Parts: sequence; C-alpha cells; structure tokens
Amino acid sequence: MAEDCIFCRIVAGEIPASLVYEDDSVIAFRDIHPQAPIHLLVVPRQHIAMLSDLTEAHADLAASMLTAVPRVARQVGGLEQGFRVIVNNGAAAGQTVAHLHLHILGGRQFSEGMIPR
Ligand code: AMP
Repeated sequence: MAEDCIFCRIVAGEIPASLVYEDDSVIAFRDIHPQAPIHLLVVPRQHIAMLSDLTEAHADLAASMLTAVPRVARQVGGLEQGFRVIVNNGAAAGQTVAHLHLHILGGRQFSEGMIPR
C-alpha cells in the first residue's frame, strides 16, 4: 500500500467507495465524478502508479485487470450496447490519481474515434 494513495485506501477499506466488483487481484467501483451515466474504475489491489510502469512481471495482473472488464460490465448491467475503456497515463494525459486504473464508460452514445466526448 502506498502512503497517501486514495485508491490504495479504497482497496484497504479505509475510505468508502461504491464497489461493484472485487476479486483477488482487482476491485471496481463507481467514479465519484461520472463522465457518463455509467462510469466505473477497475483498480488493481497492488499499487502501480501508471500503465508505463508495467513490466513482464505484471503480466498476470494486467490480464486480470482486462479480463475483469466483461465481468464488471455484466455485473453492473446497462452496458450491453457497448462501452468505452480508457487509461490515462501520466499527468499530460489527464491522469489525476497515481494508481493504475481502467475507466469503463457507458450508458450513452460516444462519438466515433478515439477522443472521449
Ligand atoms: P484519472 O484522471 O484517469 O487519474 O482518473 C481518476 C478518476 O478517479 C477520476 O475520474 C475521479 O473522478 C476518480 N476519483 C477520484 N477520487 C475518487 C473516489 N474517492 N471515489 C471514486 N472515484 C474517484
């Protein structure tokens, strides 16, 4: 657990979150400032600051994060028509919490292409 990491504190149960899913490797909870009707965060229990810190040693964890996505989506519902998965990597990309996470956004129509609007 990293000191002063808000997502580590959520993983530890020290601060509340609207949990929708958990397993041995990851938890998922609702984003506190949703950018879509459904906005979830998939967060590894292990503290890794950002995607660019992943190495081969994290291969199992990376797979766990990605394979949790459809399970989280099924569990929450409302995402059957599609959803968008985003990782912000670093401050210039808009990352504000330095603990790796996947955003799952859905429940509305998104523009075509890569830019989240
Ligand atoms: P990012 O900007 O990619 O680092 O995403 C961080 C996300 O975490 C933002 O969308 C925030 O709204 C969200 N967030 C920050 N604190 C909390 C919290 N305590 N519970 C739920 N979501 C949070």
